[in-house]
Amino acid sequence: MRVEMEFLGSGTSSGIPTIGCDCWVCNSSNPRNKRLRSSVLFRVGAEDEVRLLVDATPDIRIQALRAGLASVHGVLITHTHADHCHGLDDLRGLYWGGGRVPIPLWSYPESLAQLRRSFAYIFDADYEYKGIVRLEPHVFEHQPFQAAGVNVQPIPVVHGNMRVAGFRIGECAYITDTNEVPDTSIELLKGVRLLILDALRRAPHPTHMSLPKALETAEKICVERVFFTHINHDLEHESINRELPDWARLGYDGLKVAIEEDGRITVTEPGPGGPPPVAF
Ligand SMILES: [Zn+2]
Ligand SMILES: [Zn+2]
Ligand SMILES: [Zn+2]
Repeated sequence: MRVEMEFLGSGTSSGIPTIGCDCWVCNSSNPRNKRLRSSVLFRVGAEDEVRLLVDATPDIRIQALRAGLASVHGVLITHTHADHCHGLDDLRGLYWGGGRVPIPLWSYPESLAQLRRSFAYIFDADYEYKGIVRLEPHVFEHQPFQAAGVNVQPIPVVHGNMRVAGFRIGECAYITDTNEVPDTSIELLKGVRLLILDALRRAPHPTHMSLPKALETAEKICVERVFFTHINHDLEHESINRELPDWARLGYDGLKVAIEEDGRITVTEPGPGGPPPVAF
């Protein structure tokens, strides 16, 4: 089974460039230093049979346009911080693109409760205005679940005082927004060869991984390749990549990483036909 993860966004909650910041990374003209809010698209199967979107960021509209995404088979929610779910309303484009079939959405129970509060109208069957997304909510705890026929293993990780869900599909996993991957979750990740992991900045942070801690965590899981995400403006793409071991790299918007049918790990950079850099 082929599994691909496309970086729809690789930036921290503010996005890079950050409003009002004049640092060299925010001013960089390198498109790899321009980071929309963190999200990936899982494409599963040889012909992209199943597309599962992780989170609905405030940048989801531009992310879907850049990825050529018109519909999805489901949405997996990591947690309900604004940078991961405030694009929920804009999923309506994918709802329309999918023939107005309610989009299945999976989350922890507490995340669904928060979404119901923040977006009450979306979950209100009697809401008068019809131009909104319709969702089909599901909750998970620790057990794997089937999303459009794909087996998804939730990976609980610590994010300050809340839990966040990482997601494992086959030998690929996506883990954002965490300062600690507990040993029980390291066990659930055994056999993962390709990982996307939170690495906010160099220095320690109370709710996110520093670059050294992210490297240490990836080594513990024994992955073959790791790509970092949820990156802030402390980390300049090219100079940080030169420091990293060859099995670790910073992710960037538009990058696709996959495990092919024959087990090879492939890395596809956005080419001339790929997503254009966002103009700021
Ligand atoms: Zn975040
Ligand atoms: Zn900056
Ligand atoms: Zn968060």
